Amino acid sequence: MILGKKVLITGGTSGIGKDIAKYFASHGANVAIFGTNSERGEEAVREIEANRVGSDQKVFFINVDVSKAAPVEAAINKILVEFGAIDILINNAGIVRDSLLVRMKEEDWDKVIEVNLKSVYNTCRIVAKAMMKARSGKIINITSIIGLIGNPGQVNYAASKAGMIGFSKSLAKELASRGICVNCIAPGFIETPMTDVLNETMKTSLLEEIPLGRMGKTLDIAKAALFLASDMSDYVTGEVITVAGGMGMA
Ligand code: NAD
Repeated sequence: MILGKKVLITGGTSGIGKDIAKYFASHGANVAIFGTNSERGEEAVREIEANRVGSDQKVFFINVDVSKAAPVEAAINKILVEFGAIDILINNAGIVRDSLLVRMKEEDWDKVIEVNLKSVYNTCRIVAKAMMKARSGKIINITSIIGLIGNPGQVNYAASKAGMIGFSKSLAKELASRGICVNCIAPGFIETPMTDVLNETMKTSLLEEIPLGRMGKTLDIAKAALFLASDMSDYVTGEVITVAGGMGMA
């Protein structure tokens, strides 16, 4: 399905991004990951390498802040030299800076929009050019159920994630004639370092909102990503696949 494909995953040093990288390596892909912590990046590379099915699969990490356009362009150009192509781009890097709107600091608004949304512009505009030349490609943007249903204390996060959806649908229309598919995955509550900070009371009340009655696993997201990255989804573009145990269903 993705044997030999070249994949770039932002935020691949932790949580969902790292587990997508491991899962894709176990299906034969070459994987490049972006993150901002070199120690965690090198550790992630070792874990991803351990999941390879062939010794010729390349895995590497670049320390780059996805919210900064020029360094992202330079990092993507390095990957294009190393891999010769990027077949699959997964925009996964993301942060939260939660507070109620009336108390939200301007820097917390700006930071979340820059890391979660501007980053998608930074990567897509460079990768899309290479994919257009190749006349194929898959772009997968990891948004959130919160971008669809909202959440008190997360106006910045919800706006960034809803913004990703509008961005993805527009780009899907721009790139469709070149054989490039652009889709989103909207995870619900997934067990990762991002949700480890929730206390037990919060987790209990969240579980009441989830028809399947459990938090999601990173593998639940990796499996949806494999579908969108592979030829199984060649006739799917501009869509949002919600992987949330039924949370937020219409
Ligand atoms: P995480 O905190 O475990 O991982 C986030 C990753 O993003 C890390 O690798 C981190 O290094 C990277 N990152 C953060 N800022 C960066 C920057 N400026 N430049 C480059 N990399 C940066 O979080 P996670 O739970 O694995 O979340 C991954 C994605 O999934 C995020 O976009 C998040 O919003 C989304 N998501 C998570 C959940 C959940 O329940 N965990 C739910 C919905 C959506």
